[in-house]
Amino acid sequence: MLRSNISQTLGRITIQSSVIDCKKKAEMKYVLVTGGVVSGLGKGVTASSIGVVLKACGLRVTSIKIDPYLNIDAGTMSPFEHGEVFVLDDGGEVDLDLGNYERFLDLKLTRDNNITTGKIYQSVLEKERQGDYLGKTVQVVPHITDAIKNWIETVSIIPVDGKEGPADVCVIELGGTVGDIESMPFIEALRQLLFSVGQNNFCLIHVSLIPVLGVVGEQKTKPTQHSVRELRALGLTPHFLACRSAEPLFESTRQKLSQFCHVPVGNILNIHDVPNIWHIPLLLRNQNAHDAILRHLELFSVAKTPNLEEWTGRAEIFDSLTNSVRIAMVGKYVGMADSYLSVVKSLLHACIASSLKPAIDWIAASDLEDESAKSTPEAHATAWRTLRNAACVLVPGGFGDRGVKGMILAAKYARENKVPYLGICLGMQISVIEIARNVLGLERANSTEFDDRTPDPVVIFMPEGSKTHMGSTMRLGSRKTLVQTPDCITAKLYHNSEYVDERHRHRYEVNPDMVSILEESGLKFVGKDETGKRMEILELKDHPFYVGVQFHPEYKSRPGRPSPLFLGFILAAIGKLEPYLQNPRNGRL
Ligand code: GLN
Repeated sequence: MLRSNISQTLGRITIQSSVIDCKKKAEMKYVLVTGGVVSGLGKGVTASSIGVVLKACGLRVTSIKIDPYLNIDAGTMSPFEHGEVFVLDDGGEVDLDLGNYERFLDLKLTRDNNITTGKIYQSVLEKERQGDYLGKTVQVVPHITDAIKNWIETVSIIPVDGKEGPADVCVIELGGTVGDIESMPFIEALRQLLFSVGQNNFCLIHVSLIPVLGVVGEQKTKPTQHSVRELRALGLTPHFLACRSAEPLFESTRQKLSQFCHVPVGNILNIHDVPNIWHIPLLLRNQNAHDAILRHLELFSVAKTPNLEEWTGRAEIFDSLTNSVRIAMVGKYVGMADSYLSVVKSLLHACIASSLKPAIDWIAASDLEDESAKSTPEAHATAWRTLRNAACVLVPGGFGDRGVKGMILAAKYARENKVPYLGICLGMQISVIEIARNVLGLERANSTEFDDRTPDPVVIFMPEGSKTHMGSTMRLGSRKTLVQTPDCITAKLYHNSEYVDERHRHRYEVNPDMVSILEESGLKFVGKDETGKRMEILELKDHPFYVGVQFHPEYKSRPGRPSPLFLGFILAAIGKLEPYLQNPRNGRL
């Protein structure tokens, strides 16, 4: 099935020229980014920033993320453990780094751009069962490694930037840290790939850490030396080092790294701490990383001087912003910031467009509940104080019944006090339950996800779902929502488009049989799917901004192109929605 995804996509490919002439086009250029010393170095941001600089030079860039874990995809992984599950247009549930690539490089990736050990083994084992290996012993080398190489070569040429034909450069990020047992087959496959495509088509950038120890403040190179040695023992010599450090590297540190790690001093890049991540492409450009990478890949003559005006503007504007807006995020996974990464990024995009710094106040939904007033009174009081201080309330997506009562209280508070409310997926279902209970008087109204015996099931399990298989069985990916009336906030925010294409990830939906009762409360379902049976967007009348969406607008928000709903939400929070809606196209915010 996975193979057929790739071949379906390949079927659509037609070759078209870009900055590189067609003769050279046959050769894909790979930039591999590996990590050493410790995890959490920001390898994903480094890799996407390298992509940004290359793109700014006029090259077309695609990307692949390799996750050496055994899960087939991120769909079954808890956001507590692994951060948010990012959803692609094609319904792929993938690692959150793919979100970084989509946002930084403005791409639309496919599920096949995220390779996992699970996917590779699944494809090899399917072939084994079909007898494709003709009686041979199936082994990690060559069968798994060949599958990895084929996958990379096949996926790298899928166009993901809206143009036709393959990109010029494919940035591959290898997850984990070099030396991990589970990444070994990938390292071996990448070594073979380098050997077969040649040094000039393959550039290896190793991201490492330079810690500072003791009072003298010496920058320590030994951990980097060790991880480069480990990589070289596996047959890969890095062409570049991207060194993470708190302060800029000393010249002496560069010299030492060059000598001991076998990397030319001009290829030692330094990513020191910066005020915001949009500085990183600028940092790389200022060190002429693009020149060195392009020379290595023999692309220097076809690329132009990087144009990073937009990035420079954004990075600087963000540093200079002083006004902020308080946003209450009422969710289940508030302990780990990455759990709602795309929501946070979307708030950031919308705030920057409105010249504001977001101040996100995380509220664990369960702290708002009445039970918490008895068991943890301080947490309960703080949660309510925070909610009351916020200019707007967001209830994001989630699964399971933990914190649901608290989310309902937050939605009720926002409705009654006319505080802007954005409910995403579960957040929309929560507002339907709240209104059914507190406005329509259906006291035991609920979603069957939380109470399958409720007398008033306002949210129900979708007929096409599966209760026994969790992986990839939800309603996933981009689906059309038809806007039902031009006379609503959402229609105006989406510039009066007849339909909205956003990504989905859910198993439950508003009960179509209860829509007319629900609408008696003043709720209006202003967006429905193409059958008219599935509720996608709700708004509440006589409220400045009360919007619930069954889809996840956060996945398609971009730094320079904020999601319309997030923008409307933030503008409503600062009382500027009305003037914007009257003149959305002209209005510079
Ligand atoms: N648990 C809800 C459902 O499955 C909401 C899902 C979500 O918020 N992504 O429909």
